[in-house]
Amino acid sequence: MPVTLLGAADIRRLAAELDVVPTKKLGQNFVVDANSVRKIVQTARVSADDRVVEIGPGLGSLTLAVLETGADVVAVEIDSRLAARLPQTAAERGVPDGALTVVAADALRVTELPGDPDVLVANLPYNVSVPVLLHFLETFPALTRGVVMVQAEVGERLAAPPGSKVYGSPSAKAAWYGPWRLAGTISRQVFWPVPNVDSVLVAFSRDAAPRGTEDERLRTFAIVDAAFQQRRKMLRQALAGVLGGSAAASAVLERAGVAPTARGEELSIDDFQRVARVSADSEDS
Ligand code: SAM
Repeated sequence: MPVTLLGAADIRRLAAELDVVPTKKLGQNFVVDANSVRKIVQTARVSADDRVVEIGPGLGSLTLAVLETGADVVAVEIDSRLAARLPQTAAERGVPDGALTVVAADALRVTELPGDPDVLVANLPYNVSVPVLLHFLETFPALTRGVVMVQAEVGERLAAPPGSKVYGSPSAKAAWYGPWRLAGTISRQVFWPVPNVDSVLVAFSRDAAPRGTEDERLRTFAIVDAAFQQRRKMLRQALAGVLGGSAAASAVLERAGVAPTARGEELSIDDFQRVARVSADSEDS
């Protein structure tokens, strides 16, 4: 039996049945258009061999589109009413037994997932999109690629190269794991309720080898945070707090091949990592 996707009337009927009034707090904007969810799945190149994890399946619009490919899905949903209804929706719509596992939990706190998913596909709750993405990349190294829908401003930041106006801490941290790119736009008219921001798709693929140890990542991220907390300041000042004063910061930056007068927005993740390495070496010596 083929999987049948949800349309606008199905979404409203399910929400009414569950007494769900979408909340801003949980970023609940449900996709009511089958073509849009299929576009996300095609962009992610999901195939029957994939094990997909979805964050925030909601009423199941995107979940069913992923399941339609024959892939297995683990879906993590914080709203217990939505999590409880999803297996029934899947069964009613032709999904074979065992293809979908629902985890009723806060995705920001999940530390284990069944079946070691390798692909992330999600229409992310906008209020937590960056922290939840970084948490998943950190916690689940088996995730090799993904496509997520986020608000346009966030997507542009995630995919921004150094030197661009919107390059910031999320861009540098996301780049720790591998390259990101903007992969399409989604009209706000396909959501219920219609949000007051535009949405984009962003795609990432994880680098084949990890860039550094957990210690090195934490040290690099602390430097990234400090650099962007005072993004207008030169790095020798912005990093004074984390590197033991501005003279010490200048020395570390110079040894790492970065001008102490540069600003954080000019540095790639490679540069930040070099600064972190040099600062660790100077502490050791
Ligand atoms: N995937 C569905 C769709 O495309 O129609 C719903 C997407 S909606 C933008 C975000 C979903 O994430 C909602 O179902 C919401 O309840 C859920 N959510 C919000 N915060 C969450 C969290 N911290 N962990 C897991 N799910 C969360």
